[in-house]
Amino acid sequence: MPAYDSYIYDLGAPGRSGVDMPDPDVPLTPLPAAYLRQDGLPLPEVSELDVVRHYVHLSQKNYAIDKGFYPLGSCTMKYNPKVNERAARLPGLADIHPLQDSSTVQGAMQLMYELQVMLAEIGGFAAVTLQPAAGAHGELTGVLIMRAAQIARGQGHRTKILVPDSAHGTNPATTAMSGLEVVEIPSDAAGNVDLAALRGHLGDDLAGFMITNPSTLGLFEQNIVEICELVHEAGGLVYGDGANLNAIMGIVRPGDLGIDVMHINLHKTFSTPHGGGGPGSGPVAVKAELAPFLPGPIVALDPASGAYIWQQPAQSIGRVKSFHGNFGMMVRAYTYIRMHGAEGLRRVSEDAVLNANYMQARLQQQGDYPVPHGDRFCMHEVVAQGKIVGAEGVHTLDVAKRLIDYGYHPPTIYFPLIVPEAFMIEPTETESKATLDDFLAALAAIAAEARSDPELLHTAPHHAPVRRLDEVRAARTPVLARVPAADGQ
Ligand SMILES: *Cc1c(COP(=O)(O)O)cnc(C)c1O
Repeated sequence: MPAYDSYIYDLGAPGRSGVDMPDPDVPLTPLPAAYLRQDGLPLPEVSELDVVRHYVHLSQKNYAIDKGFYPLGSCTMKYNPKVNERAARLPGLADIHPLQDSSTVQGAMQLMYELQVMLAEIGGFAAVTLQPAAGAHGELTGVLIMRAAQIARGQGHRTKILVPDSAHGTNPATTAMSGLEVVEIPSDAAGNVDLAALRGHLGDDLAGFMITNPSTLGLFEQNIVEICELVHEAGGLVYGDGANLNAIMGIVRPGDLGIDVMHINLHKTFSTPHGGGGPGSGPVAVKAELAPFLPGPIVALDPASGAYIWQQPAQSIGRVKSFHGNFGMMVRAYTYIRMHGAEGLRRVSEDAVLNANYMQARLQQQGDYPVPHGDRFCMHEVVAQGKIVGAEGVHTLDVAKRLIDYGYHPPTIYFPLIVPEAFMIEPTETESKATLDDFLAALAAIAAEARSDPELLHTAPHHAPVRRLDEVRAARTPVLARVPAADGQ
């Protein structure tokens, strides 16, 4: 059988083709000679069946939430309900163009408007832009909004953004990309922001504070209200990294806690597919005083005519994305929110937190892997360490690679950076107790292997399409494309 899982250029044979076009029944219009290709086009010559088998083979090599448990902490790899896909494929939503006259796309605009309203309500904010394409893009948008608002108030000298040491790397990156200065704030022994360190930076140069709550330690920031008050008193604004909204939705609203601006990852909390590099969506929600600075246009409801219209906020920072953002993701998130309703969304967060705490309690009971903040309840994820008692030469990376042999996607590893040998498990609410128990059993079995046969872990994975990779080389000298030679070899 041909190697369907190899490079597609290695498949097929000269002259083989996927389609037979009928002879045209209209006169041919000759192209000007300058537009005609002079050489052959080095494309694979394959049948339709070759193409189908090739891509099905590739898809089977990949791991996906539809194949198995995917506890990648901070990424909220929950199940993507298939009803979302049905909604996104409705012709009236899928077959429209962003340049159509707004009178012809009122339904799509109503969906966007209602999504803006629902996200504002869930977060405790006044206004929302749906434009940003992901969380990191939302962060940049949000910090640019903060900066524009401060410049408009004559406070352009405020250039310092405080970022906790537990933050996701996108937070300091966003700050730097916005032309502002990053100041790292340590965490205290309990995993909260160190308030004494925070107080030391509340000067006249403070632009704001970026905080993730719950934090990437999987902990609810116990001093969040006081932190927001301190930052506001010093003239700064508080940016909320909303990536962990899945822990608190319907229970507490970040806006009510004092957050001024926050992005929401639709592809995490609201179940739009992610993980394959597909389109994301990172709407940004703001308090009323920041609404004039939102990117535009946003959808507004004209009370006089009852029509949905495009509106440019008065002091808009400008467009951050072509057209109106990734609309297909908005349809999926809208469907998810409508299917759950307010009660259902709250239940989602409660179950996500329950699943993570079950995982934390069982990990502590099994006793193989330390849980550094195990004295506190965790939120939607739990951070443990791959420091197995009695197997000192084994590291988190080895455990993660061995989990692949057991059929699991590994958890997030070596993040947050402040926990040595971290691995961060986010089970999400969509997994059953049976799945969590099987995963815990795999972790226990791997700990036993680490003690009796550490080499088995150092050389894992053994049953995956690719074995242990040289990750440094892959990062430094990536081979991103293979250009076929002219002879097709
Ligand atoms: C995922 C994540 C981000 C970035 O979001 P993307 O949508 O991946 O760009 C930022 N902060 C935290 C805590 C995250 O988990």
